[in-house]
Amino acid sequence: MSKKTRQVRVGNVLVGGGAPVAVQSMTTTYTRDVKSTVAQIKRLEEVGCEIVRVAVPEMEDAVVLGEIKKQISIPLVADIHYNPNLALEAIRQGIDKVRINPGNLLNGRESLEQIVRAAKERDIAMRIGVNSGSIDALDKQAQMQRIQVRLREDGTLERSDPAEARRLERERLAERMVTKALEYISWCEELDYHNIIVSLKSSTVLTAVEAYRRFSERSDYPIHLGITEAGTLVTGAVKSSVGLGLLLADGIGDTMRVSLSAEPEEEIPVAYEILKSLELRNRGVTFVSCPSCGRVEIDVISVANEVEKRLSKVQTPIHVAVMGCVVNGPGESRDADVGLAGGKGKGVIFRKGQVIKTVPEDQFLDAVLKEVASLLPEGEAKLIYPEGGIKDVAGTHRTRDEGMNLPILPASR
Ligand code: SF4
Repeated sequence: MSKKTRQVRVGNVLVGGGAPVAVQSMTTTYTRDVKSTVAQIKRLEEVGCEIVRVAVPEMEDAVVLGEIKKQISIPLVADIHYNPNLALEAIRQGIDKVRINPGNLLNGRESLEQIVRAAKERDIAMRIGVNSGSIDALDKQAQMQRIQVRLREDGTLERSDPAEARRLERERLAERMVTKALEYISWCEELDYHNIIVSLKSSTVLTAVEAYRRFSERSDYPIHLGITEAGTLVTGAVKSSVGLGLLLADGIGDTMRVSLSAEPEEEIPVAYEILKSLELRNRGVTFVSCPSCGRVEIDVISVANEVEKRLSKVQTPIHVAVMGCVVNGPGESRDADVGLAGGKGKGVIFRKGQVIKTVPEDQFLDAVLKEVASLLPEGEAKLIYPEGGIKDVAGTHRTRDEGMNLPILPASR
């Protein structure tokens, strides 16, 4: 059960107040390079990104935002650090939301008030994006508290318990982050501005979780979830899944970004997998594939990877299974909309729980995709199954020559 928050509109996307958790990302291009930025946003749109943020480090980047906005379909957010004039220009350009960082906004309250007045006039949203890195840098006293060794009166050294010290430090930092966000919120409210979304990001999973939980207990403004600088594809996906998963499972979070040191398009499927795992969104392919093991009868890894890649643009909810042998294959495949259960160089294709046919290994990909395509709207089917079929089938013939002598399931045709 998600925690009830206020609802804020970001362009045509509703955030909070019971709306589905919106998935967002951020471009990696130089924003002033309009052509590359728009092309990247289009690729993000194709894979299901619902809100996109662009960095605005200089005025050259701010003045092209209107041009970018004209060419894209999803709401555009300007990410501002330090200079309030960049925010003011971005708002003039017609962006849908401005993100400011309380840890580094020059002239703090005075700048915030200028930005709020402009955002209010245009009726656009603002994210108060607190980041533990910039909060920490501000607080010298907190840095002093990091000292974990103390001299006792008898001259011996007392070392604090590192785990306990880390926990206390985490709590202090989280509290400072929340306090900063609430302070900025109170300044906005004094100007009768409530179009606010809040993030409390940290590269440390437990600090972010602590900060988001604390904030959620004290405020009903919608929350943008993220673990900042989470890492590369594997590290970042795992850290984001743990951190965001813990919060989302508790009903905390209204929009999210999975930050990866990878192409931004790769962030989107990770975000949807997190949301689908928690049954918070139902979009695109829910994919089941076995890891393969010593019983494997087909090249399950190649087939699974290729099937998943080909289905990456599908938005219709559909359940697909690719399984390596008869041990778990038939059960998982029957439960899926389309399933493949491998067996001795052949595979049984299931559709909606029924055995459809048995196909040789070099036709696995073609057969699975054809069945998936038959269950999709025409426009989406074309994306995965071009006319004339698929020639470059997966399969590097890792199948053992003799198989495991396990029974192959009977095929209906
Ligand atoms: S389905 Fe078969 S091959 Fe795949 S992991 Fe299970 S036992 Fe191994």
